[in-house]
Amino acid sequence: MESLLVEKGLLSSDAVDLVSAVYENAVGPKLGAKVVARAWTDPDFKARLLADGTAACRELGISGMQGEEMIVLENTDDVHNMIVCTLCSCYPWPVLGLPPNWYKDPAYRSRVVREPRRVAAEFGLELPMEVEIRVWDSSAELRYWVLPQRPAGTDGLSEDELAALVTRDSMVGVAQALATSSRST
Ligand code: FE
Repeated sequence: MESLLVEKGLLSSDAVDLVSAVYENAVGPKLGAKVVARAWTDPDFKARLLADGTAACRELGISGMQGEEMIVLENTDDVHNMIVCTLCSCYPWPVLGLPPNWYKDPAYRSRVVREPRRVAAEFGLELPMEVEIRVWDSSAELRYWVLPQRPAGTDGLSEDELAALVTRDSMVGVAQALATSSRST
C-alpha cells in the first residue's frame, strides 16, 4: 500500500513514516489508555470490559477495523499477560493504533512464547518468579490486549491523570503502567 502510494507520487515516504509514527505512539494508544483509566475507576465498567472487550470499548465510542473481536486480559499480583501474533502482526488497532516494529519482528514473535520472562526483562520488566506469565496469540479473528495493574499511590488521581500513566507497552504486556513519580507534572 505504502509503496504503491509513493510510486504513484501521491505521498512521500517521509510523510508515510511520520503518519505511522504518530499513530503508533501518540494517537493509537491514547484510546486504550482512556479505556484502562475508566476500568481502574469504575468497577462495573471493568467487569464489562473483561467480559466483552469489544462491547465495552464501543460504550466509549471506540471501535473499528482490526478490533472487531477484542479480549482484554487483566494483570494481577499473581498473573501477568503478554500479547503476540506468532503468525504475523495482528494487533488491536482501535485501542493501540499500529503495532511497533518490534511487535512484528520474528524474534519477538517466536521468543515471547518460549521465554516470556526473559523477553520481559529485556524490555526492563523484571517479573518475580512467583508471578505466572501467560502469553496470548492474537489472530485476524481475535485480538488480545492487556489491562495493566493500577499503580500504587494513585488514589487521588482523576481519570485523565490516570490515563497518562498507561503506556502502549503496558497494554502489550512488556511493561507496567507508569508509577506516579515518573510523571512529569
Ligand atoms: Fe497476525
